[in-house]
Amino acid sequence: MKFKPADKIQDLQYFGEFGGVNPSISDSSTYTFLSAKTMFDTFEGNADGCYLYSRHSSPSNLYLGEALAAMEGTETANVAASGMGAITPALLQLCKAGDHIVSSRTIYGGTYAFLKNFAPRLNINTAFVDITNAEKVEAAITENTKVLYCEAISNPLLEVADLAELAKIAKKHGLTFVVDNTFSPLSISPKELGADIVIHSLTKFINGSSDTVGGVTCGSQEFIDSLRSVNDGANMLLGPTMDSMRAASILKNLRTLHIRIKQHSHNAMYLAKRFQEEGLRTVYPGLKSHPGHETFKKMMNEDYGFGGLLTLDVGSLEKANELMELMQKRNLGYLAVSLGFYKTLFSAPGSSTSSEIPEEEQKEMGLSDGLIRFSIGLDNDIERTFQTMKECMLEVGVLKKGTA
Ligand SMILES: *Cc1c(COP(=O)(O)O)cnc(C)c1O
Repeated sequence: MKFKPADKIQDLQYFGEFGGVNPSISDSSTYTFLSAKTMFDTFEGNADGCYLYSRHSSPSNLYLGEALAAMEGTETANVAASGMGAITPALLQLCKAGDHIVSSRTIYGGTYAFLKNFAPRLNINTAFVDITNAEKVEAAITENTKVLYCEAISNPLLEVADLAELAKIAKKHGLTFVVDNTFSPLSISPKELGADIVIHSLTKFINGSSDTVGGVTCGSQEFIDSLRSVNDGANMLLGPTMDSMRAASILKNLRTLHIRIKQHSHNAMYLAKRFQEEGLRTVYPGLKSHPGHETFKKMMNEDYGFGGLLTLDVGSLEKANELMELMQKRNLGYLAVSLGFYKTLFSAPGSSTSSEIPEEEQKEMGLSDGLIRFSIGLDNDIERTFQTMKECMLEVGVLKKGTA
């Protein structure tokens, strides 16, 4: 039977301390022990269900973690203070000095900067490859490679990674396959396709209200325990801990994720089709013209569509800026980085979220100056939105009157 991620979340039943319909928030940094012996056992990791100190874990963080683990079909999960607070400890847990990572070259700018500029200080080096080319991926693997890393749908180019194929390569070479699924929650279930570890920036669709940063690492009990180890766990020792209050609020937002994703996908598909009909250079994995369309279709949980992200190439950064400023003025959305908000967000990644990537490399991977990344909002009447966007495009000359 096909994996049903939203049903898995729904099947988790939590009660609050006084029978509340939401679990109680654990408003404590530290926890008492009735006996000194239990405290010792907890430090040794031998007292299941006992809480020690909230950097290690807290009831609220565990509730959220378990819901996200259910969504991704992993044994368990560890929530973190941000997406980067999940990604960097996971990679540092998996790699020691001398180890090597093979990563997609089209990834989130922060992850790219970490692998390119920071990890080499610890003698952890990365080969960046075209993740859609299995031969190139395999050729980049060395005897020191420990991790294969990619985003299911890449930021910002919306390349689609064939996760089942990559999982086979990882298995063959004994690598841990880590997938950042931030762009495609519910739509794609990487673990089902063979990923070992699934990471999200909760900041985006999962929380969905652009009021916090957050992250999660979903994986095996053994791996998550290792991240939390008091002796050598990267999450425990580096300390990117989510606050309990925030975990509780993200869990409540997670409850509506399936409804939101369907609407984001519906609206993005609608606009992508209309933009393409107008002759605009539109990239959206739901379009047949997208090189990864068939791969996405093969992997997807159909109910949730192709996601809320699309890009338009309007030719130059000047045009992109002009258009974005006008769209904001007309209240079509915000000129802002990030994604997954109720309102449409747009930015030019070349000069913002991907500016960590040198210009030369941006060109090579197809990241052009005039590219606008849209995170399409939950607009009720998407045709009305399209018409207003079209007016803006005509006004700044991205569309010419009388064509199309
Ligand atoms: C935003 C983002 C991140 C980083 O998450 P933060 O919550 O900002 O730390 C990582 N990966 C992807 C794909 C992202 O979009």
